[in-house]
Amino acid sequence: MQEIYDLIIAGAGPAGICAAIYASRARLKTLWLEKKFAAGGQIADTGEVDNYPGMPGIGGMELGEAMAAHAEKLGLQPLRETIRSIENEGDVKVIHTKKNTYRTRTLILACGALHKKLEVPGEEELGGMGVSYCAACDGVFFKEKTVVVAGGGNAAAEDAVYLSRICRKVYLVHRRHELRADRVIQESLFACGNVEMVWDSTVESIEGTEKVEGVRLRHVLSGEERFLPADGVFIAVGITPGTDFLKGYVDLDEGGYVIAGEEGITSVPGVFAAGDIRTKALRQVVTAVADGANAVHSAEQYLQKLSDFV
Ligand SMILES: Cc1cc2nc3c(=O)[nH]c(=O)nc-3n(C[C@H](O)[C@H](O)[C@H](O)COP(=O)(O)OP(=O)(O)OC[C@H]3O[C@@H](n4cnc5c(N)ncnc54)[C@H](O)[C@@H]3O)c2cc1C
Repeated sequence: MQEIYDLIIAGAGPAGICAAIYASRARLKTLWLEKKFAAGGQIADTGEVDNYPGMPGIGGMELGEAMAAHAEKLGLQPLRETIRSIENEGDVKVIHTKKNTYRTRTLILACGALHKKLEVPGEEELGGMGVSYCAACDGVFFKEKTVVVAGGGNAAAEDAVYLSRICRKVYLVHRRHELRADRVIQESLFACGNVEMVWDSTVESIEGTEKVEGVRLRHVLSGEERFLPADGVFIAVGITPGTDFLKGYVDLDEGGYVIAGEEGITSVPGVFAAGDIRTKALRQVVTAVADGANAVHSAEQYLQKLSDFV
């Protein structure tokens, strides 16, 4: 008979790492799966993290490595495998990866989310050199500077409002003549004296050599192109949770996020969600690690109630 784990953790970003730390301390028989070679998740792709308490200005890669080293010190390391699908056999969750099948009593989904890209020239090359996907994370580096925000939904409008308090000038570039953002957010946006709307326009490229120097815009109606000088570009065109493999297994909201509150409890008993993958207001490292701890606590409480758990 195949071994049944107490807990399987899916993903080794901040939420998964914190879950591993708590699971190890709770002495749960745990298996930890991560699809990438390195732990750290999105944070490993981030230049500098300036809002994690106690570590001002730490490099994203460095923070990810430090967190993973903490879990390793307590005896847990992720196995490099991608989860493809999950099914239930009674109370047991059966996890299928490309190579293997694993069985567990509880599962923590910590597979994160990815910021959508504009897919324009200069975006990749100038990543971390003025191109950002997170105003709350990187806005502070653009004090009294000029920035462009690309997008037209709530995230873009909220980012523009947030940046208007830090930056000298904010241009919000949107391809339509109307925002999709909620009315209340639009009201705050239009009340900002230093935000200028650039309607009916798309960012065609991000220009600069060693750092962002501006964007090339195209007017969608006239086709006219122009260069807009800027020190930074914040891309807020959406975020995609990594939940394709969960469709039909656990309840997702319309955006594809796993529906779960602070305790991580999902629609499937024994399955918990932590970090960016779940429905929540603020997707940050500090909220992801808190979720990881809460999810293990919830998993422990669930296990206590199982008749065959010793
Ligand atoms: C450019 C950028 C800059 C940021 N800067 C900051 C900042 O300064 N401060 C801050 O607080 N936050 C910042 N964030 C946000 C922060 O990185 C996230 O909120 C945080 O990483 C979420 O952690 P997580 O563990 O929930 O998910 P993730 O970090 O996304 O980790 C999920 C992990 O799950 C793995 N995975 C996915 N699917 C599977 C699968 N099927 N099987 C196995 N493994 C899987 C992924 O490979 C990944 O390693 C930034 C994000 C980005 C993109």
